Amino acid sequence: MDWLHNLIWHDLVWHNDKLFGIQWSVWKVIGWLGNITFSSRFIVQWYATERKRRVVVPTAFWWLSLVGSLLLLVYALRKTDSVFIYAYLFPWIPYTRNLIIHYRHQKAHSNCPGCGRSCPPQSNFCPNCGARLATTTSSF
Ligand SMILES: [Zn+2]
Repeated sequence: MDWLHNLIWHDLVWHNDKLFGIQWSVWKVIGWLGNITFSSRFIVQWYATERKRRVVVPTAFWWLSLVGSLLLLVYALRKTDSVFIYAYLFPWIPYTRNLIIHYRHQKAHSNCPGCGRSCPPQSNFCPNCGARLATTTSSF
């Protein structure tokens, strides 16, 4: 089995001072962290959708999108690749806006004075116990 160990370890994993065929540097680590973070958002979104049996975009999806795209933008700026820079120059805007709207919406919830459950914004009655809620107004 030494031949298998040699094939996997010495030819595929570590070869000519390269790990997985990549010459590593700090910038490669930043770029790969961006790639892994950005692509992991698909798994998070898919898992949330399968779990709820309906299309769901969890908050973690927007955080992974924001952090991953910013890491990739930093890497692209370092590489001075105009195509790559443009691809990651603007996506942080909708990701950030979606997070702002999400947290504002969450903050606009009120706790029921009867049962303590968190009630959706602009609800007049608690969906859990039916207690009357103080009406509030919110803007997005
Ligand atoms: Zn209640």
